[in-house]
Amino acid sequence: MLARYDVSLAARTLTRENLARRPRDLWRYHELLPVRDPARIVAIGESVTPLTRLDTLGNALGLAHLYIKDEGLLPGGSFKARGAAVGVSRARELGVSAFAMPTNGNAGAAWSLYAAKAGLQAHIVMPARAPLLSRSVCTLAGARVYAVNGLINDAGKIVAKAVAKYGLYDASTLKEPYRIEGKKTLGFEIAEQCGWEPPDVIVYPTGGGVGLIGMQRAFRELAEAGLLKPRMPRFIAVQSSGCAPIVRAWEQGDAVSTQWEGANTVAFGINVPKALGDFLILRILKESAGAAIAVDDADILHHQSLLARREGIYASPEGGAALAAVVDLVRSGTVSRDERIVIVNTGSGALESGGIPAVIPVLEPDDEISIPASL
Ligand SMILES: *Cc1c(COP(=O)(O)O)cnc(C)c1O
Repeated sequence: MLARYDVSLAARTLTRENLARRPRDLWRYHELLPVRDPARIVAIGESVTPLTRLDTLGNALGLAHLYIKDEGLLPGGSFKARGAAVGVSRARELGVSAFAMPTNGNAGAAWSLYAAKAGLQAHIVMPARAPLLSRSVCTLAGARVYAVNGLINDAGKIVAKAVAKYGLYDASTLKEPYRIEGKKTLGFEIAEQCGWEPPDVIVYPTGGGVGLIGMQRAFRELAEAGLLKPRMPRFIAVQSSGCAPIVRAWEQGDAVSTQWEGANTVAFGINVPKALGDFLILRILKESAGAAIAVDDADILHHQSLLARREGIYASPEGGAALAAVVDLVRSGTVSRDERIVIVNTGSGALESGGIPAVIPVLEPDDEISIPASL
């Protein structure tokens, strides 16, 4: 189930001139969002996120136009805030009082925060191995949180049973149409920040693929509204080689994916062994002349660290995966050096405590530090 709009009606007021005067948050695109009554909007600071040029890394790779869309600055620290802002607002508008959802952590955190503001009851089921921080955020925000000894798909099964038994609103990915609408705003922002000229390539760390599906809808609707040339960016789905069902299906030319056994990666946000919308993701990759590529965990962590060291960007491992993918894409000639490339850092580095364990000197209060002359 997907939302549909009267785009020509929306286009009457969704103009560049009007946008220039609107607040810098995702509600600036309200004509193409599903909340009907502005009074129903649940807002906690879902600001437009920065699109920043990666000068140092771009130069090192010989790329003149390498940008990062940094979603780590959203409420709860990930781009899941977009889906939650719109999903919770619309749920409240529909009279929902309680919902349930499976999550790898970040969606649960975001939906818990928005649910708290909206006064909705949240039931969140996540893998026991999900990053502990997301669990804390849910609890802090008053959600009921459950940990399952399994993966996100197992959490999904438990949610489905709870939904059937207690009549809860099912906020699972693609079980309600509004979360995608929120994630669509990622595409709106990229389009606007690129001066209404779609970038050539968007590199996206892909789990359930909602961000990809949302972005494609965004570019399509903007083109229909006359705000953008009807040219799609090439979408690149990035996964970890520890969980790469979309990449496998892509390489085999399949229209759907099969369950990835033994899924395991440091980039927990993309540890999704079988996405419900896999057929949509694969179709988007094909239609946009994109690709799906896998990078391994060591590479992910190395590039996460490069983003911090070379650019001061505190990215999540998923952001590192996107950068690692760009290196591969350049090497294989899939992207050329003069193309405009946007990598999406889907969350803050603060979300996951994983990463390279730092070995640092430990001092006593009276100790001094010694800095070698070579530094
Ligand atoms: C959820 C998530 C993803 C994957 O997003 P999808 O839209 O489900 O593909 C990537 N990175 C982070 C940090 C996430 O939380």
